[in-house]
Amino acid sequence: MTAQIIDCKKLAQSVKEELKAKIAPLSAAPALAVIIVGCDPASEIYVRNKEKACLAVGIIPQTHKLPAETSKEELAALIERLNNNPDINGILVQLPLPAHLNAAEILPLISPVKDVDGFHPLNAGALLQKNAKTFIPCTPKGIIKLIKSTKPDLTGLNAVIIGRSQIVGLPVANLLLNENCTVTVAHSKTQNLPALCRTADILVVAVGKPELVTKEYIKPDSLVIDVGINRTANGLKGDVKFTDALETAAYITPVPNGVGPMTIAMLLDNTFEAYLKQHRP
Ligand code: NDP
Repeated sequence: MTAQIIDCKKLAQSVKEELKAKIAPLSAAPALAVIIVGCDPASEIYVRNKEKACLAVGIIPQTHKLPAETSKEELAALIERLNNNPDINGILVQLPLPAHLNAAEILPLISPVKDVDGFHPLNAGALLQKNAKTFIPCTPKGIIKLIKSTKPDLTGLNAVIIGRSQIVGLPVANLLLNENCTVTVAHSKTQNLPALCRTADILVVAVGKPELVTKEYIKPDSLVIDVGINRTANGLKGDVKFTDALETAAYITPVPNGVGPMTIAMLLDNTFEAYLKQHRP
């Protein structure tokens, strides 16, 4: 059989259209501040895509481009100004930061009510407590939407997540637990990974290793979400060998145009949520 390729672009577009309709009648447009430090080419592309996506739904993007040598104090001062600016609803610091700036020290400086990436420790903690009012990180929030587009009720399914990062693997694990899945989180020290993955009705791969996951990892008729974005000599590749997933799984997300567009749609959604929180607390 051939797996169905989840039409992530179309799903992301429908989220954006819904948002556009909700934003149009507002008296003031929501605004998102994006801070980029240095000139990492991939980050510059991501920031431009975020700006374009904001404009398409009626969110005002405000980009702050800082030189690579910006000090922690300078960056903190900008974040503080944006925290106190009532015209800014969401704040995002584009990662990765230059080596002398520690994301773990910088991200908690963002006001939790403007933390549209959901990386502030208060928001990350609220997710563990199943607090529905928290900002859910954009990529994990989008992944759950993609999974539920194929199967609204995930109760009792076995989910394996490869990767335990704070921004993808761990939040996805918590969200799938909240959906009543039985969740296993695998990582670089996991033993016998292919056999473990073959138990997965839902396999989420967030590793950053091109085509790590091959046929022997994939349970027949399962759902595979490929989060990886790897720049290789043969172009952009996911963490999953796409042709193997096509032959084995029931559903697969493509790379590119898979999880990425949904991540951006969820950033817009979180910015709208931030606006509502600040205007109708
Ligand atoms: P990290 O590097 O933070 O985490 C990678 C995880 O993979 C770690 O937990 C690591 O284990 C695990 N790992 C590494 N090698 C192996 C292996 N051989 N077998 C099993 N597990 C392994 O990455 P991120 O979570 O930030 O990102 C993962 C991928 O997703 C990247 O390609 C990134 O570009 C992409 N991404 C895509 C997004 C999108 O919007 N499409 C958004 C965010 C990320 P350990 O903890 O033991 O080191």
